[in-house]
Amino acid sequence: MKSGTYNTPVQYVKGVGPRLSAVLASRDIRTAKDLLQFFPRDYQDRTLLTKVSELREGELATVSVKTLSSHKIPIRGKRQSILDVRCTDQTGAMSLKWFHSPPGLENRLKPGTSITVTGTVKYYMNKPEIVHPEITWSGNKTENPEEYNIGRIVPIYTEIEGLTSRQLRKIIWSAVSKFSHELTEDLPSRFLAKHGLPQHAKAVTSLHFPPKDTQIEQLKEHRTPFHARLIYEEFFKLEYLVLRQRLLMEHKHATSIERQRAAESASDLEKMLPFRLTQGQTRTVAETLDDLSKANPMNRLIQGDVGSGKTAIAFLTASAVLAEGYQAALMAPTEILAEQHFKNAVNMFKGKLHTALLTGKTPQAERIDILEELSSGKPILLIGTHALIEDPVVFKNLIYIMIDEQHRFGVEQRRTLRNKGIRQDPATGLTLHPHMLILTATPIPRTLALTAYGDLSVSTIRELPPGRLPVQTSVVHESMKPHAYEKIREELKKGFQAYFIYPLINESEAEGFSELKAAVKEAEHLAKNIFPEYKVGLLHGQLRSDEKAAIMEEFKSGRIHILVSTTVIEVGVDVPNSTVMVIEHAERFGLSQLHQLRGRVGRGGAQAYCMLFTSGHVGEISALRLDVLEKTHDGFKIAESDLEIRGPGEFLGTRQSGVLPFKLANLIRDQDWLLKARDDVIELLKEDPDLTKTVYTPLRNYYEREGVLQSERLRTS
Ligand code: ADP
Ligand code: MG
Repeated sequence: MKSGTYNTPVQYVKGVGPRLSAVLASRDIRTAKDLLQFFPRDYQDRTLLTKVSELREGELATVSVKTLSSHKIPIRGKRQSILDVRCTDQTGAMSLKWFHSPPGLENRLKPGTSITVTGTVKYYMNKPEIVHPEITWSGNKTENPEEYNIGRIVPIYTEIEGLTSRQLRKIIWSAVSKFSHELTEDLPSRFLAKHGLPQHAKAVTSLHFPPKDTQIEQLKEHRTPFHARLIYEEFFKLEYLVLRQRLLMEHKHATSIERQRAAESASDLEKMLPFRLTQGQTRTVAETLDDLSKANPMNRLIQGDVGSGKTAIAFLTASAVLAEGYQAALMAPTEILAEQHFKNAVNMFKGKLHTALLTGKTPQAERIDILEELSSGKPILLIGTHALIEDPVVFKNLIYIMIDEQHRFGVEQRRTLRNKGIRQDPATGLTLHPHMLILTATPIPRTLALTAYGDLSVSTIRELPPGRLPVQTSVVHESMKPHAYEKIREELKKGFQAYFIYPLINESEAEGFSELKAAVKEAEHLAKNIFPEYKVGLLHGQLRSDEKAAIMEEFKSGRIHILVSTTVIEVGVDVPNSTVMVIEHAERFGLSQLHQLRGRVGRGGAQAYCMLFTSGHVGEISALRLDVLEKTHDGFKIAESDLEIRGPGEFLGTRQSGVLPFKLANLIRDQDWLLKARDDVIELLKEDPDLTKTVYTPLRNYYEREGVLQSERLRTS
């Protein structure tokens, strides 16, 4: 690595020095190159100078003037005064004004000084003026600010801790002139030529200081060829890592099961289901069995809307693995959910599928029995919570791992479980990796599937089981609550059940005290004043797990009619007899979460209702979210809107943020470039996966310099 070339410390950029470099470091700008990657947030057109006589009220203008005189105008009742500098350009006179003038400014503006000023024009007593103008002073031998401040489209930067856009423009100008030639071209020229994209250095330079003929609208909308080039590059570099990761996984070894027998085992179990599989389920089972019968590890994501029946797929495919004498594990994010899966398996399949349940509350004696079974190698499907990844849990031959509601787990937890399935093949000595199946009810928009989850194969279940009516969804403002209660009463009279959900404001602080209080109070209120004839239960995160399970059980069996809950029930709970979902303070929830909650009802054949209660002022974005939910039932469309409204970082959740290192690329706006980059990377991986050819040396060098860390972060499982 040639140091000094890529890593010149930012301190050596002219005009930076130790103090500013500390400020820049707060934004992770440490080298000249980092500084060049700090792109403008906007642009201002200063190509044309305006004459004083042509200045118009409200217009942003740049004018070259000579100063005539300056005076201080006292402000009545205050100590300070306004600095007023009169100027002219032959066509007319104008004023420049400062309410707080920087020390020494007045001196620098002695009569007869030539300056160029930029700012928004106002008319005061029929004379044009600019308040707090940006001044460009005439240049000297070493530096000419007129080059970067006027007569061109100029970049506007986000301020960094008091470092203004104007100061940034100045230092980035010197960084561009001095260091832009050090920017390497990492991408193969063949692909650039194919799309007619400019060179990297040219693109970076032009984003800061656009060439004369660039359209300002295109710049503002990120549609110049320079943007395209850098967006393509971000996608290209990420996709190479993601797809290579996938390729590497595909080259690892795994225990395969025999396809024909697997199909038979699955279909034996299928016959015991109380329903017929949908087409999507059938196809997904087949795709999963195909993968399980390969000698390389499966990495498959199943995305299907809430209620599409993903659990059945987990059971059927697991049975095929057990039938061959191996072990399987299904990890769920909550005890309630793990228990529900376990009970379903036991009830539906009787003894046909050998399962056990391991959670934090499994009694010691039972736990010992389970651990013994696991280490003896007995074929078993172990269902459980995080308890599965604890140290004492050792499998003899775990070859199949399923993770339900994957977004609830961190990368680390999934990796720990995966490691429990890595073993040595006694016969061949090969290292065998487990097959992984990841289930998610938050549909992942295509662009995210290709980036953040690009190393996984994806099965999609598009349809819901037949006979389900779309949940009727309505926003209910405070004044309409009594009306809504009557509607709910009608449902309860018919023998159906209802949920009332309370939000957690802040996901990181476990269960907030005030929401808990609100839920407790509301449960009392509902029981006493609104629905005295029905039984109301309360579920929240601070109950012991046996208390939670008992309440869930009462609700399932119908002894509790109304379940008031904080968001602990969000994932996966299945009580088909409930037809009403009330979400209090719906404006505080994210779109995907609202959709998830709504998916808890409408699982039986009856019409179900989702009521989004709002109170007080609802912000514009929240209103937009609720509107999307009222109109849309398709989880995939909702996910797209959610991604659009919240952006990928929040969409993926804090646990996975930082996965997508984009500075310019936008997963929604730039989909086309993502697809192009991906196709090109696939072509490249076929031709030279390890980048050994000389034409690919720059790209390989790039990854050797900075790619490794990123690829570590990227692994999704
Ligand atoms: P999710 O995909 O949200 O995890 P579940 O697996 O919990 O969905 O299934 C939701 C409900 O639908 C369960 O009650 C399940 O028994 C039922 N179900 C699953 N598949 C079918 C089907 N093909 N036909 C009818 N009901 C089904
Ligand atoms: Mg589920």
